[in-house]
Amino acid sequence: MTKTILLKNRPEGKPSISDFEFISEEIDTALAKGELLLETKYVSVDPYLRGRMSDAKSYVPPFQLNKPIQSGVVAKVLESKNDKFASGDYVSGMLNWQTQQISHGEGLTKVDPSKAPLSAYLGILGMTGLTAYTGLTQIGKPKAGETLVVSGAAGAVGSVVGQIGKILGLKVIGIAGTDEKIELLKSKFGFDAGINYKTTKDMKAAIAEAAPNGVDIYFDNVGGPISDAVLVNINRLARIIVCGAISVYNNTEVPKSLSVQPFLVKNSALMQGFIVSNYTDKFPEAIEQLSNWLAQDKLTYSETIVEGFDNIPQAFIDLFDGKNKGKMVVEV
Ligand code: NDP
Repeated sequence: MTKTILLKNRPEGKPSISDFEFISEEIDTALAKGELLLETKYVSVDPYLRGRMSDAKSYVPPFQLNKPIQSGVVAKVLESKNDKFASGDYVSGMLNWQTQQISHGEGLTKVDPSKAPLSAYLGILGMTGLTAYTGLTQIGKPKAGETLVVSGAAGAVGSVVGQIGKILGLKVIGIAGTDEKIELLKSKFGFDAGINYKTTKDMKAAIAEAAPNGVDIYFDNVGGPISDAVLVNINRLARIIVCGAISVYNNTEVPKSLSVQPFLVKNSALMQGFIVSNYTDKFPEAIEQLSNWLAQDKLTYSETIVEGFDNIPQAFIDLFDGKNKGKMVVEV
């Protein structure tokens, strides 16, 4: 029996378990030429999936109702009639939330479990690591001695951004939602300072205090009032890298925010959104650099690994309550 998770309802506000439906069915495992039978091992849950659960226009089409949800998955090839993959290989790619499935192999990449744990190919050596590296280097254009502020700092992308910032000689300040995460930023990831946005009354003043020379680069994962407080502290020629806006993903009304224009104008600052797939040409360089830093122990990572296929929807929902440290992954 194969289990599949379908999108049952388009969530209103924060997603809930009732927005998902589980089905079990026999799938026909007789393979045609070019096909592979895959067994899911690890499933990535990511904040951006929230956007695909709405039917608003975006850079990727929305999920369809009553169809399987897809995300980054690492799977084992059980059987192959495709020349590029052999039985026993491990692959990563965008696949269904499904325990077993048939693929034509398009968009799949072989991953090597002897080089890194399989889950790492969904995080530090996968989409979130690439997002951190490309966003910071391509838009942030960091120069040693500058000050970098990262929001969502203890998450999958943010924790890597901060560490790369340190490797490149920046002063790094992280913003996260618990004291335990702030401690982790400093002790494990080498950040210079951390601010707990849930317990800090005046974020604008706290950022000014942590960054007495002002903010040269802001890597924004969250948007909303946290980002407003960073924006009022930017320096001349600052770069604001708009990676994500998790604080407003569940909003049911258009969010109200600071008017950013005066801050951009008076500082000749750059504010740029991006999607990691804009930089596919940089992926080989990024993977090589991230792998080397990992091998040299200059870079490390955290994962929150949730056990069990049935817990995929809850693990996804938990991202919005900050239950993860580093990359949230489900081990099937
Ligand atoms: P994370 O691992 O950072 O997980 C989400 C974290 O967001 C939570 O742990 C929580 O941490 C924080 N959070 C949740 N709600 C709020 C809120 N209301 N205000 C502030 N923080 C909140 O996820 P990722 O690293 O995978 O993604 C980070 C961001 O990057 C997301 O916005 C995502 O959409 C975006 N992204 C963009 C990509 C691109 O190509 N542009 C690619 C990948 C990700 P805490 O306890 O600190 O609140």
